Parts: sequence; structure tokens; C-alpha cells
Amino acid sequence: MQKFFFQCIILLMNKKLYVISGSSGVGKGTVLKGFLQRNPQFMLSISCTTRKPRPGEVDSVNYFFLSPEEFKDCIEKDKFLEWAEFAGNFYGTKKKYINQCLEEGKDIILEIDTKGALQVKKRMPEAVLIFICPPSYEALENRLRGRHTEDEQTIQKRLNEAKIELERAENFDYKIVNDDLEKAIIELENVIKKERDNA
Ligand code: 5GP
Repeated sequence: MQKFFFQCIILLMNKKLYVISGSSGVGKGTVLKGFLQRNPQFMLSISCTTRKPRPGEVDSVNYFFLSPEEFKDCIEKDKFLEWAEFAGNFYGTKKKYINQCLEEGKDIILEIDTKGALQVKKRMPEAVLIFICPPSYEALENRLRGRHTEDEQTIQKRLNEAKIELERAENFDYKIVNDDLEKAIIELENVIKKERDNA
């Protein structure tokens, strides 16, 4: 029923849901930021997480920061369109939030991990899955270490996840290699334009 409801809204409004995933440190946030600056009609979904805010991150802007208890309560009440555990923390997209955005006629982009992306595809086959790849595993490791936001243990967890994410990306609709920021942004624009033209 829920699935049907979401599909109806999307069909009625001729909107597509774009799901972007990529290994931690691949620069998907930067690619997306560039895309959104040039295409302000798109809206980036705000996820819920149990991860602690990084310096500069603001509640309800970067994430809805929840306690593990609050997150568990949302799972039990079936409030998430998808959710996943990633590197020791929980992340999820609220159905209500996506619903509101679609009702407001917005094109939405979800920036979530590959487990979550595949759950979305199962519930909404018309969702477009796009994976941002690193030029190489070594490049990814260098970027992850270079941003100095995680301790060694977290970096190791994220590197392990990155290997698994690359495997899951085989089931995505598109892959974009981020070895040149400008090229990656243009490629993302082309993919989304193509999908909108086909809608
Ligand atoms: P970070 O902690 O670096 O902000 O995010 C870690 C990972 O969680 C990233 O791969 C990011 O895409 C993913 N993520 C963020 N929000 C969500 C969400 O709502 N659901 C899922 N499944 N993953 C998410």
C-alpha cells in the first residue's frame, strides 16, 4: 500500500527520485554541491543519523541527528523509506520527509549508502541509482586520510565498507568516476537530463 502511494505521487507529479551513492571520501558531497549550485531546483534530502555531528554540521540542515533510541523507535514505527547501518552508525530516510518534498513538487536527490539505495530501488523501481566511483582504491584512501575528520579505526571501517560498496555498485543504473570534479558534475547533469527527458 505504502509502495503504491509513493509510486502514485511520483507518477502524478512526473518527478523522479535520484539516489547518489559513493564510497566515503570519494568526493560525492563536492560533486553534489557543484550540481546543486547549478541546478537549484533540485533538493537534497536530509537524512536521519545516530552519528555525532562533525564540527560545523547543523541539526536539521546536514542531518536530523537522533539518539540510538529515537532511531530505533522510528524503525519500529516503520517511519523510514530505507535505513542502514554504516561504519557503526545508523542512517535513514524518513518517508514523511520525502513525501512532503514530492508534494511540494520538488525533484529530490538522496545521498545515501549502497544498501539504502538498493532498498529504495526495490520499493520504487523508477528511482535512478547513480554511483560515484574513485579513480582508484589508493586515491580513495588518500582522500579519506587527507580530510582529517576520522580517527584511524573509523578510517579502516570506512575503507572496508568502500570495497563492499564498489561491489554493490554493479547493480546501479549509472557510474561516474570522480577523477576530475568539473567532468563529474557535467556527467551527473547529463545523466539526470537524460532521465528527465525520458520521464
Ligand atoms: P557520513 O557519516 O560521512 O555523513 O555518511 C556516511 C555514509 O552514510 C555515506 O555513504 C552516506 O551516503 C550515507 N548516508 C547518509 N544518509 C543516509 C541515509 O539516509 N540512508 C543511508 N542508507 N545511508 C545514508
